[in-house]
Amino acid sequence: MRRGFLFFVLVPVFFVACRKSSIMPRSADVLGTVCSVNAFADGSAALYDALFARLRQIDGICSATDAHSELSAVNRAAGERAVSVSGDLFFVVQAALRVSQLTDGAFDCTVGPVVSLWGIGTDHAHVPSDHEREAARSLVDWRDCVLSERDSSVFLTRKGMALDLGGIAKGYAADELAGILRAHNVRRAVIDLGGTIYLFGAKADGTPWRVAVRNPDCPQGEPALMLAAGECAVVTSGGYERYFEQDGRWYPHIFDPRTGVPAQTDVRSVTVVHHSALLADAFSTAFFVLGCEKARLLAESLGIGAVFIAENHVVSTTGDLAQNVVLF
Ligand code: ADP
Ligand code: MG
Repeated sequence: MRRGFLFFVLVPVFFVACRKSSIMPRSADVLGTVCSVNAFADGSAALYDALFARLRQIDGICSATDAHSELSAVNRAAGERAVSVSGDLFFVVQAALRVSQLTDGAFDCTVGPVVSLWGIGTDHAHVPSDHEREAARSLVDWRDCVLSERDSSVFLTRKGMALDLGGIAKGYAADELAGILRAHNVRRAVIDLGGTIYLFGAKADGTPWRVAVRNPDCPQGEPALMLAAGECAVVTSGGYERYFEQDGRWYPHIFDPRTGVPAQTDVRSVTVVHHSALLADAFSTAFFVLGCEKARLLAESLGIGAVFIAENHVVSTTGDLAQNVVLF
């Protein structure tokens, strides 16, 4: 579970909202994390019911741990047959494969066998043997996930392959919630799906939203920087929230798909700002794997705004994001 941001603006805005409406913001455990939405004065029980029903629906489709999910059905059929899936799953897998292509496999939604083997974030986390690791790694390749638009099907071509959408599903869910907010004519809201943030609409006083990005060296304490933004998604990937330590070594929950080992690069955290939360989510995971230099080049070439906090504490940005960042 990752809680990558502190909201400086939320406390004052929240009290204003409470005076106008008796409906409190809502939080719940969904998608393996704490999800919360604050629609301020436009929040109503019916709105929150609709938002959280949609979240649970997406979870029920995309979960890698729920044996009844559509994703699990695709994984069980690996090496045997294609499975026709919902528009939701097809869309997310299609987007994931596109990001895999753009990142040359640094993002890979077929990373499932490696994620299961290491078990990071579970009670069976361990460092596997080289043999186990190689066996799992050899099953990871996004090019062996075949989609067919004709019957909306997903086929993992080799037995043992498994999809894991942990690096992208929260982003998709945030975009979907933003769509619901728009359909309900909500003026402003903050969606926080375990650190996958969507800042919806504009603040009542016309000033930008402001989010604080944690200092990776003291994730419970002082923020490292503050980011000002209009309506957008802000997603951070870091190795400090979910990780596993053994023999003095530290293993984050983001893997390098090419080695089957937790990514060990010079990125301490990377925050992506984008109008699509799905892309912000997937690219933040990919940028963590790629390391600062390669990720910066890719972000610049794709026009993606990102803020990197490097191992040596240097903060760097891409695009024109520098003007939106204040360092502490
Ligand atoms: P979080 O889930 O903490 O928000 P991320 O968005 O960076 O963080 O996603 C990490 C999750 O993505 C992992 O828990 C795993 O399920 C999955 N994952 C790990 N490595 C990769 C990778 N290289 N490509 C795609 N998904 C990955
Ligand atoms: Mg991600």
